[in-house]
Amino acid sequence: MTPISTKMPEKLGRLPDIAYNLWWSWTPEARLLFRHLDLTLWRQTNHNPVHMLNELPAEQLEAAANDPDFLRAYKSVLIKMDQEIQNGHSWFYQTYPELTKNTIAYFSAEFGLHNSLPIYSGGLGILAGDHAKEASDLGIPLIGVGFMYPQGYFRQRLPSHGWQEATYEQLDLSQAPIRPVETVDGQPLKIHVTMSGTPVYARIWYVQVGRTVLYLMDTDVEENDPWNRDLSARLYSGDGEVRIRQEIMLGVGGVRTLRALGITPKVWHMNEGHSGFLVLECLREKVQSGMSFAEALADVRAHTVFTTHTPVPAGHDAFPFHMVEHYFQGFWNDLGLSREEFLALGEHQESWGTAFNMTVLALHTAGYVNGVSKLHGEVSRAMWQGVWPNLPQAEIPITHVTNGVHVPTWLPSETRILYRKYLGPGWIERQDDPKIWQQLDDIPDEALWDLHILLKRKLMKFLRARVRQRWLTGRDDPTQVLTSGTLLDSSVLTIGFARRFATYKRATLILKDLERLRRILTNQYRPVQIVFAGKAHPADDPGKMLIQTVYNMAKHNQMGGRIAFVEDYDMHMARYLVQGVDVWLNTPLRPREASGTSGMKAAINGVPNLSVQDGWWAEGYNGANGWSFGNVEYDDPETQDWADASAMYDILEQEVVPLYYKRDGDDIPRGWVRLMRESIRTSAHQFGTRRMLKDYARKLYVPAMAD
Ligand SMILES: *Cc1c(COP(=O)(O)O)cnc(C)c1O
Repeated sequence: MTPISTKMPEKLGRLPDIAYNLWWSWTPEARLLFRHLDLTLWRQTNHNPVHMLNELPAEQLEAAANDPDFLRAYKSVLIKMDQEIQNGHSWFYQTYPELTKNTIAYFSAEFGLHNSLPIYSGGLGILAGDHAKEASDLGIPLIGVGFMYPQGYFRQRLPSHGWQEATYEQLDLSQAPIRPVETVDGQPLKIHVTMSGTPVYARIWYVQVGRTVLYLMDTDVEENDPWNRDLSARLYSGDGEVRIRQEIMLGVGGVRTLRALGITPKVWHMNEGHSGFLVLECLREKVQSGMSFAEALADVRAHTVFTTHTPVPAGHDAFPFHMVEHYFQGFWNDLGLSREEFLALGEHQESWGTAFNMTVLALHTAGYVNGVSKLHGEVSRAMWQGVWPNLPQAEIPITHVTNGVHVPTWLPSETRILYRKYLGPGWIERQDDPKIWQQLDDIPDEALWDLHILLKRKLMKFLRARVRQRWLTGRDDPTQVLTSGTLLDSSVLTIGFARRFATYKRATLILKDLERLRRILTNQYRPVQIVFAGKAHPADDPGKMLIQTVYNMAKHNQMGGRIAFVEDYDMHMARYLVQGVDVWLNTPLRPREASGTSGMKAAINGVPNLSVQDGWWAEGYNGANGWSFGNVEYDDPETQDWADASAMYDILEQEVVPLYYKRDGDDIPRGWVRLMRESIRTSAHQFGTRRMLKDYARKLYVPAMAD
């Protein structure tokens, strides 16, 4: 394999710049450029332009360089990229010109940007990825800090018994859109953190996301012993010991990475408590420079933002005191604290005893704290009241910024073309202005419906192609072919349910009354089908049990092939699903879904939500843009499940199914199309990262930039 740079014809000299900047992934013109270069290779590499340029023979690149059409497209993409990456005209620069020299360091254990960089597991990572993309679009001076996991998250396989199997694949780093950070003399930049007396090293990769840069640490370097080389091999695997070491690397190592790069952030943002140790390193730096601990703490608090993401207690990392003491021996002396004062920073009562809780650490040390929806803000104030024993609940300093999704990432180009035609060419720039969405009324029913049917067919074709590929490898048995979506029918009302299989999300709620479900699915004239997808954490047996239950129903002949479980859910599949199903189902146990974002992706695509009134949907539902249930809370979980399930079946039978199948002479479900339009109209301006990042800027980042 010849390095990309040496075989690139001069006329296409900056094509690698486009390939290495994930900006291409949300820019249709840039995607088209790579498609046109070699469609087959584009598909073979799973839409990975770095991999593609590696594989392309020099002659083919030469031919492209001499093709005037290609050259014209290349130049126009390049101009667009350079323009958008320049700062002068962006929202942040226009709104806060005096603050543009500040830097916000955004720490996250995962980033979901594109499938070619599989360093995410689910909603939290995708949110971080969308955050980075939108920060770029708005010109918010943010840089990301995280890990480059060479084995990423696991790939899911479902054998015919339905018990999820996890496999890990080593990513070929030369095919990923990452590049090493080097020192001035061309050596890989490395940082280290001493753990139990041994320095643990990490090299640093960088990823370009529009104008945002992410720095990713990777401990797979020769200075480390095998155990430490593997420290950043995988996302969220391993026991408490690996986990605390990873979090020390993320927090303390992350600060040292920025220092080594000569970056001095004004604002520190911890996306979830995983990176909480970063405040300890910041405090240490300040105390070492002569401040008292109290002064250092006040200073750190003034510039630190913390976002908490879950009301589920087990979702907050907590470590036994002895473990924290082991790794932070001596650290408290550096801070001028006693052992007791140090441990008190994270002290919290867990179900299993007193421990050092990362969220509590973050709450004590961040001056700006938010939950991720209005309801989650309220729930968090109640949940963490113990940290502020003298304040009434309403005054607990936890606010909220409701999550959002990066609109250009989650809309297919077909939809973008339609929106452009009816909302005007500037619609992306003005996407958070509700007024432009009034023009949705100008889109004819036929156009909206035809587009939807097209995307639904694409989804089914995508699923079938995957199954066929697997069947060809000879490793599947016919049951697996049957359960993976081959029997789906594009004329049938299709419900989508895809997300992590955590128990509180209750994937099996719709299976509560099997006889009633069977009648709904197998109705001769108005049938319904459901597509499920999602991974359970490898250590979560109850979650795997839920997958198995769904899988057994998919196999059950009485369900008539109307249930499918598609394995190995990821971002790529998520796009097909949220764009191609008819209804998006979400059945969490209220109020445990802090926000949820997959429903927003569906909503902006005109796929109405059928959801428990939890998380974002408690704000999003307006009575005419989907359906809501489950807003009554019972103490007994079984009573709760039955009440929620019955309410859901009622809505399905009485509202969803009749509305979907009510067609006029042109075979268009006018009432349904009205609902689709209402779904887009009420969600696109409100639940995009455009609104979200502006909220972060106004409520948190800008105040945290004051001295
Ligand atoms: C959006 C997304 C999620 C989050 O889904 P929720 O329903 O919000 O839990 C998880 N995984 C992938 C791949 C996604 O794209």
